[in-house]
Amino acid sequence: MANIEKKSAKLNRRKFFKGSTLVMVGGALAYGIGSARILRSEDLLLRPPGALEENAFLASCIKCGQCLQVCPPQVVKLGKIDQGFGIGTPYIVPLEGACILCRGLPCVLACPTGALDHEISEGKEAAMGLAVISRPDTCLSIKGINGLVFQLENLAEVKDSIDLGKLSDLLTGLVEKLTPAEKEQWKLKFQLLELSPRVVSQILTKINPVSMKWIIEFMKGAQQTQHACRICLEECPINEESPISFKEKIDPDSGKKIVHPIVQKTCVGCGVCEMKCPTPEPSITIVPRLKWKEVSV
Ligand code: SF4
Ligand code: SF4
Ligand code: SF4
Repeated sequence: MANIEKKSAKLNRRKFFKGSTLVMVGGALAYGIGSARILRSEDLLLRPPGALEENAFLASCIKCGQCLQVCPPQVVKLGKIDQGFGIGTPYIVPLEGACILCRGLPCVLACPTGALDHEISEGKEAAMGLAVISRPDTCLSIKGINGLVFQLENLAEVKDSIDLGKLSDLLTGLVEKLTPAEKEQWKLKFQLLELSPRVVSQILTKINPVSMKWIIEFMKGAQQTQHACRICLEECPINEESPISFKEKIDPDSGKKIVHPIVQKTCVGCGVCEMKCPTPEPSITIVPRLKWKEVSV
């Protein structure tokens, strides 16, 4: 099992798509899942919510592009000739823009043939695939690192050219989560009358290496960062369905307590976690069409 675990950790995403049932079961066991599941893996594109089984989907989709037209974040792409199969059929690449499981699933409503199953109407029914912790060696939760602090430190490392767009995104999500006492300190530091997403642009005008250092040190001690990364769950559009749980374990090598993200069967494979995972290459990736099936081993 140890060899399977090491092999599984090193698989890149492409190989993961092609992974055999044996490797996938090994991966599932490696992440501490209570009972093993047989995981069906094929080299398939990630289809929009509700796509029928692949052969039925290819037979039903008339390549009209309606799902693409109505997609608010415009994440649906159409297969090109050099992709070998399914030319003109819709698919999604999470790293270039994941499906956000829009309310009412407009892509499903727009599909004229039912290739996107008209029986579904909610994101939790999307059944696109399944997320897997494909790079446990880089996962910040397992390493005990906070995801926000990790991202701030990465931004600050690039001297003279802090990516203000990325910093703006991070601060916009952060400022409202600060406690009232923490907000007071930020107002004082950046000479603000209020602290809300509206004033992030004012903070950005005062960003330099010294103020970045202040933010990082502040956030290391802040209430919001007293836990390791849980960004995949926090950003999941159906996180109320608990598609990822975080389980404490003792690392057999170091004897230290570690926290493993464990993907649950409520995950629908939308890809938002892959898109938002802060590690240089996502530690969590989507396997299209993959399904849980509980078996006893
Ligand atoms: S659910 Fe929304 S984001 Fe996802 S493919 Fe459909 S229209 Fe696009
Ligand atoms: S987002 Fe999830 S998978 Fe990615 S580093 Fe954080 S806990 Fe790990
Ligand atoms: S865990 Fe990831 S892939 Fe699964 S539903 Fe949530 S964001 Fe989507």
